[in-house]
Amino acid sequence: MLFDFGGTLDADGVHWSPRFHAAYRAVGGGLDFAAFETFFKASDTAVARLPDIRALGFRAAIDAQARLLAGFLPDRVDPGVIAQRLHADALAIVTRNTPVLERLARRYKLGVVSNFTGNLQPCLQELGLARFFSVMSDSALVGWSKPDARIFTHTLDALGVSPQRTWMVGDNFEADVRAAAALGMRTCWLAPPDRSPPGGLVPTARIARLPDVEQVLD
Ligand SMILES: [Mg+2]
Repeated sequence: MLFDFGGTLDADGVHWSPRFHAAYRAVGGGLDFAAFETFFKASDTAVARLPDIRALGFRAAIDAQARLLAGFLPDRVDPGVIAQRLHADALAIVTRNTPVLERLARRYKLGVVSNFTGNLQPCLQELGLARFFSVMSDSALVGWSKPDARIFTHTLDALGVSPQRTWMVGDNFEADVRAAAALGMRTCWLAPPDRSPPGGLVPTARIARLPDVEQVLD
């Protein structure tokens, strides 16, 4: 089984940008999501360029992104409070998901395929999740990003499994579901119930929270 990381293991199908936006609004930020997203994307780029990014664990990466984001935003918001909220929300979901991954790791070979910034492994280690995954493919290290098929085949080869016998679980329909389905994998889309699926493909399964994945497999 392959999993995406951001939005899949640390949230219920909600991307980092709306989660940062909610935390920003909670500390008094005034921009709507569309305006906010421009600054968030700038912070994404800036985080990836930090000289020490590959060593940053989960909390340090969130702290760094919140600090960079606050520097770009036109209104004054406390990056420490934003980071604290992001981290606490993610930790609650990870804590809930941990026993699920623990059970799955006993039955299946597990891997992570993530478009990330070179520090996927320290992040998963800090969250106590790295022990469940035999392979952790970080786009910044392997050189290909989803939806490029090569990051999937690289991971499948490293696990020694065929795409036809493997599930891909992720929250991004294009990068996770469509790309994996094109390789013949079974796909499980993790998305809030009100999110409409794009056309042209029906995932093998759809769930709203990671713990429901076990029912899909049985
Ligand atoms: Mg994701």
